[in-house]
Amino acid sequence: MTQTNQTVCPYCSGNGYVQLILGGSETCYSCSGKGTAVKDKQ
Ligand SMILES: [Zn+2]
Repeated sequence: MTQTNQTVCPYCSGNGYVQLILGGSETCYSCSGKGTAVKDKQ
């Protein structure tokens, strides 16, 4: 299995959005709603 440089976004767990405590949701600021976090050059 080949590892890509994409991984599930830790902030939204791949949902692309985060639940707000007060209710509702907003687009994940970390992945811009993609649900994946790109591992940039380490
Ligand atoms: Zn995210």
